[in-house]
Amino acid sequence: MAFLVVLGGGESGVGTAILGQKKGFDVFVSDKGKIKEKYKNVLEHFGIDWEESTHSEEKIMKADVVMKSPGIPDSVPLVKELVNKGIPVISEIEFASRYTDAKIIGITGSNGKTTTTMLTFHILKNGGLNVGMAGNIGDSFAKMVAEEDFDYYVLEISSFQLDGIREFKPHISIITNITPDHLDRYGYKFENYIASKFLITKNQSDEDYFIYDADDEVIVDWLKEHPVKSRLMPFSLKRSFGEGAYLENNEINITTQEDTIKMTTDTLALEGQHNVKNTMAAAMVAKLVGIRKETIRECISNFQGAPHRLEKVLKIHHVQYINDSKATNVNATYYALDSLKTPTVWIVGGVDKGNEYKDLMPLVREKVKAIVCLGVDNEKIKETFGNVVDLLVETYAMEEAVKVAYKIAERGDTVLLSPACASFDLFENYEDRGNQFKNCVKNL
Ligand code: ADP
Repeated sequence: MAFLVVLGGGESGVGTAILGQKKGFDVFVSDKGKIKEKYKNVLEHFGIDWEESTHSEEKIMKADVVMKSPGIPDSVPLVKELVNKGIPVISEIEFASRYTDAKIIGITGSNGKTTTTMLTFHILKNGGLNVGMAGNIGDSFAKMVAEEDFDYYVLEISSFQLDGIREFKPHISIITNITPDHLDRYGYKFENYIASKFLITKNQSDEDYFIYDADDEVIVDWLKEHPVKSRLMPFSLKRSFGEGAYLENNEINITTQEDTIKMTTDTLALEGQHNVKNTMAAAMVAKLVGIRKETIRECISNFQGAPHRLEKVLKIHHVQYINDSKATNVNATYYALDSLKTPTVWIVGGVDKGNEYKDLMPLVREKVKAIVCLGVDNEKIKETFGNVVDLLVETYAMEEAVKVAYKIAERGDTVLLSPACASFDLFENYEDRGNQFKNCVKNL
């Protein structure tokens, strides 16, 4: 019996263990930290061998194949040792994709993955396809492959998952955009991170498709130097293409080998330029897998966006409150500010991953009347914008931040939580931050 070792007992680890067992592997799950109760129960239920708070090296080194969870860096000694010994270390999507013939739509990028994945799934499902959604969203891909029998999968894929692929081959791949992120895992080299994202195209052939943002210079420049084999399907807000998607007078044009379809952006459920891009990407997938134009149109106008992403919370005394807690980098916040049409009270701050706030300067000058800092260390924000806005207030808890914003905002304004930072200084995670914001707004 082949021996599968799973490093990390979280969603992707436990999913892989279930699938591995089903496919006849002898399975062992090892986690250096604590495994959550719910996952322990699942492992027990399936009778899968596991350990926590340690890695039993001797046993692990007997593996025929190792699945490493995305949270574990390549640099940890155990992983290096495995690689040195020639034991294959792969990711969950690599492992799971070996056991399904379904057509895979793989979505990666620095921002917009979740939104694009959910919208794509929404259209494909409403179009009548037997389709599952997995990856960084909800259930792991491996668990779905073990328990379901879908014809299509829409997968949200991080660069860490891509680092561990060998033969993973999506029929349609998407890179929504590439901006510097997670550089600590890539030797602080942006090109390593770009290369990692492009692994999504690595095994594609000329019968597969690659959808990408052609307004993104990082992507376009990389493609010039590193051509891919798949059929290129660019999308752009600025230019048109033979095949691909572009915007013209509030109309999205999508051209494939077959024909061109047009859809108005006036009825789009999601606001903001970035969401026009996400919509183009998702609609292009739908067109490529043969969904009817009417269904695509309907779905892009009735799609309920994901929470914490430009999520409208409430209007109070004609002030709109928007929760964009998922904006953990400058680029995401850029699009949030860009999408607003009113004077704005902007709640910003948290753990800064090396932010260049300068990019936001024109938008802040144009739209932001006051800044409410919400972080342990707000120095950089104060330095950058202190002289640009009329009012800047420092706060250290959500309730305080929301109350201050409420006092400042006037009829017709927007209060926007779009932190451009991670949340770990004052909150558990971005969901906690967003939920606290929504509760505080509801209690005003
Ligand atoms: P991801 O899963 O890649 O983190 P999300 O869909 O969760 O992406 O969105 C993360 C943040 O980025 C949100 O604040 C959202 O409003 C913003 N965003 C969404 N799509 C894009 C895009 N195409 N470009 C830039 N920012 C985006």
